[in-house]
Amino acid sequence: MTHVFHRHLQHTPPVAVGGQGLFLRDAAGREYLDASGGAAVSSLGHGHPDVLTAMHAQIDRLAYAHTSFFTTEVAEQLAEQLVRTAPAGTSHAYFVSGGSEAVEAALKMARQYFVEIGQPERTHFIARRQSYHGNTLGALAVGGNAWRRAPFAPILVEATHVAPCYPYREQQAGETPEAYGLRLARELEEAIVALDPRTVLAFVAETIGGATAGVLTPVPGYFKAVREVCDRHGVLLILDEVMCGMGRTGTLHACEQEGVVPDLITVAKGLGGGYQPIGAVLAQRHIVDAMSQGSGFFQHGHTYLGHPVACAAALAVQQVIERDGLLAKVRTDGDFLGQALRDALGAHPHVGDIRGRGFFWGVELVADRASKAPFDPAQKVHARLKKKAMDLGLLCYPFGGTVDGNQGDHVLLAPPYIASREQLVSIAALLAQAVDAVTSTATL
Ligand code: PLP
Repeated sequence: MTHVFHRHLQHTPPVAVGGQGLFLRDAAGREYLDASGGAAVSSLGHGHPDVLTAMHAQIDRLAYAHTSFFTTEVAEQLAEQLVRTAPAGTSHAYFVSGGSEAVEAALKMARQYFVEIGQPERTHFIARRQSYHGNTLGALAVGGNAWRRAPFAPILVEATHVAPCYPYREQQAGETPEAYGLRLARELEEAIVALDPRTVLAFVAETIGGATAGVLTPVPGYFKAVREVCDRHGVLLILDEVMCGMGRTGTLHACEQEGVVPDLITVAKGLGGGYQPIGAVLAQRHIVDAMSQGSGFFQHGHTYLGHPVACAAALAVQQVIERDGLLAKVRTDGDFLGQALRDALGAHPHVGDIRGRGFFWGVELVADRASKAPFDPAQKVHARLKKKAMDLGLLCYPFGGTVDGNQGDHVLLAPPYIASREQLVSIAALLAQAVDAVTSTATL
């Protein structure tokens, strides 16, 4: 009998007792190859000695000091590291304890920015269908899954949802990727105009759609066109890189590859690599200036923001990534992983699409390749795939069901950046085995 309020109340998961490198171990002694880094969290794998040493040293020195009284050396060092490596114009890092808190803080920064500059009539967010931005009320409101929002709809902030960039299903016949991207940007502009541009705060998007979208990589030019639309109407651009950021796609921030600089970037997961709960909002100077020259105060805050041990863990993770040249490794080994997935699964009759960048890949499963028809959600292919993979000793992150524009089942792979090529090949092979087992006619 468990007293932990597990999310799935009828199912108690195995008890994790240890982790080293790419492997996790449960209380029954089973080992799992961690191909998803949890939910794209473990950027350096488990038990990295440099991160543990940094955390121990910080605990011995100072475990906690409240930010209404103090800053800390380690928070200052981490902010310096993050600002130095962030897109041009980034001036500050606002620390929080995770991804939802980062999104929440970014939404409030956007709102307070407009209040400070005398545009309080801006009250509305625009975001994308099939996105996931977290489970707190603000993040839930901008999140793109109506079924998640449904029970809470009467108590959410105003948000409108436009189409995600999903070429596999939504790029039209005869339409080039570039033309598709421009069409989506036009549709965003139409949504802004329909709402009245003077009332719109920000467009919120994952630079690369993550778990609930099956890794949706943007088509060339899409984000540049989106940035132009936002600028034309004085709307802020918030890019949520909680999942796709901090090196996961081979550059520190995924938006670097799109050639755009958002007003605010949210990061978490890979920032602390799972060693401590930490997230951040990376803010452009004009946002911070509006507050410092206005009220002088950001009307927000949490007890544990800038927690010294969390900052020490994140600083160590980021220093290891820099020192060991892991971004370059993610780029080259990411191509290798993509090829390994195509080799193992590319011809599979139930694999419709394999897409991704760096160490961030999605495999979309279909009932029929030619028509792209998804599996009947009642078959719960994603749930069975997760279980089968675990039985085979593989941790991957499936999601799906044809609900609310989620066109089917898909699985996310996001291995730690330290994965060897041998481990990447094992990941592809084990996933193929699990997909085979779950989609064979006998099990459907
Ligand atoms: N934003 C994105 C893109 C995410 O993928 C997630 C979590 O999966 C979140 C926000 C919420 O982060 P957290 O679960 O740390 O609150």
